[in-house]
Amino acid sequence: MNFRLGQGIDFHRLEKDRDLWLGGIKIPSEKGCIAHSDGDALLHAICDALLGAAGLKDIGHQFPDTDNEYKNIDSKVLLRKTFAMVQAKGYSVVNIDSTICLEKPKIAPFIDKMKEVISGIVKVEPDAISVKATTTEKMGFAGREEGLAAFAVVLLSR
Ligand SMILES: [Zn+2]
Repeated sequence: MNFRLGQGIDFHRLEKDRDLWLGGIKIPSEKGCIAHSDGDALLHAICDALLGAAGLKDIGHQFPDTDNEYKNIDSKVLLRKTFAMVQAKGYSVVNIDSTICLEKPKIAPFIDKMKEVISGIVKVEPDAISVKATTTEKMGFAGREEGLAAFAVVLLSR
């Protein structure tokens, strides 16, 4: 068995009166991400981790933000396309671990649903997907609610 590890990181600015999408679901929030796509930082971090593990170029290369095809796109579509590229190289996902870093809202109530959505796309059991959340204890851009970050690690096997 051939194993490949990948990691991905994504950041987005937050602004009032925008939808907040994380892990493929819409979360009630005063602020949402500014982005060319729907701004789902968690799915973007997972895409980059998958691409990295498979030895493919990053998400910005695969889905350029200058391309109108991807304007306001549902990031689940990007994850599906990314997973198809990974599968085309003969890999399947062993597990994904991830962390979202933001001040608010609390995302704990939405984590099970995120795991369900992500596991459905990358074709693993929900238990193979981990989504964690943390804050920066009010420090820095995340603490000031100016933005959020997401981190993901993926293990692939072939
Ligand atoms: Zn992003």
